[in-house]
Formats: sequence, structure tokens, C-alpha cells
Amino acid sequence: MVRIPHDTNANSAVVKHFTAFLESKQLRKTPERFAILRRVLMFTRHFTIETLRQDLEQEAYHVSRATLYNTIDLLIEAGVIVRHVFNGQQPQYERATGLTHNHLVCTHCGKVKEVRDDGLIAFMNTRKYNAFNADRYSLTVYGMCSTCARKIKRQAAAQASKQNNQVKQHNTSGK
Ligand SMILES: [Zn+2]
Ligand SMILES: [Zn+2]
Repeated sequence: MVRIPHDTNANSAVVKHFTAFLESKQLRKTPERFAILRRVLMFTRHFTIETLRQDLEQEAYHVSRATLYNTIDLLIEAGVIVRHVFNGQQPQYERATGLTHNHLVCTHCGKVKEVRDDGLIAFMNTRKYNAFNADRYSLTVYGMCSTCARKIKRQAAAQASKQNNQVKQHNTSGK
């Protein structure tokens, strides 16, 4: 595991780290790679390749999809970002530093919410694993968001009242 500087505000340290990473791999330090990194560092939430591409386009910065995918892979390998695949959705990415939040994934609408659980963080800090130096953890909790729960409840209520009305109509027409 490549450790990157833990000061999340120090974007210049991340750029330095990525530069050293490219040099160590004898990869070219192209302006495209650094433009992508700069944009990636601006995200405070999850992003997809598509949102990243759109944001770069908005800045009139055109990079090919191949370059985008290739650079994302390098940023993952360098430990700058991590990839999440929730419930078969398209991959989402986020900064790797300080990744100690939980992801609540709604299996109905696919919405992903981030929550911090201090109790779990404290617990995880006490965990020791044999021959392993833990750096961060990721926990995904699957379930149903309150919006979907409300929607399903409303639909069930509407369905019930419809059936109720049908029964009433049936009863009155039967008389
Ligand atoms: Zn939902
Ligand atoms: Zn997250």
C-alpha cells in the first residue's frame, strides 16, 4: 500500500506524490494527467468518470476517454483515490485520505449516503491484524433510504384506498 500524506488540505503534497509515483514507474508526466489530478482534488464527494469528464469539458479541457481511464487507474495505484462499486452500479471514486466513513447504499434508488461513525472508528483503531498494517477501512451498509420508504408507503396506501373504493362501488352497484 502506497501511503500518501495525511494532510488532506495539502494538495501540492499530493501533486508531488503523484509526480514521484510517475517517475518511479517511468511514466510520462503529461499535462493531461495533472489536469485530471487537479480536477479530482476539487471533488469533496464521490464522482464518476462521467462527472469528471463533464467537469473537464466545462473547463474546455478535452481529454480522451482512454487517457481518463488510464489516469484514474494510475491515481488508484498511487493511492490518491479509491474505487467503489456499490450494488452493481457504475464505479464511483473518492479521495483515499481519511477514508473512514461508512456508505449507506439504498438498494431501491441506488443513492449513496456517507456517514461518520465515531464509535466504529474508535473500535477499528483498536483492531490489530496479524502481519498487516491497516491504513483505512470501508464499510458499506445496504438498505432502504427514507425517501424510498415513504414512496413505497404512499404507493401501498394509494393501492389500498383504490381497492377499498372498488369494493364500495361493487357493493353499491350490487344493491
Ligand atoms: Zn432510495
Ligand atoms: Zn465515500
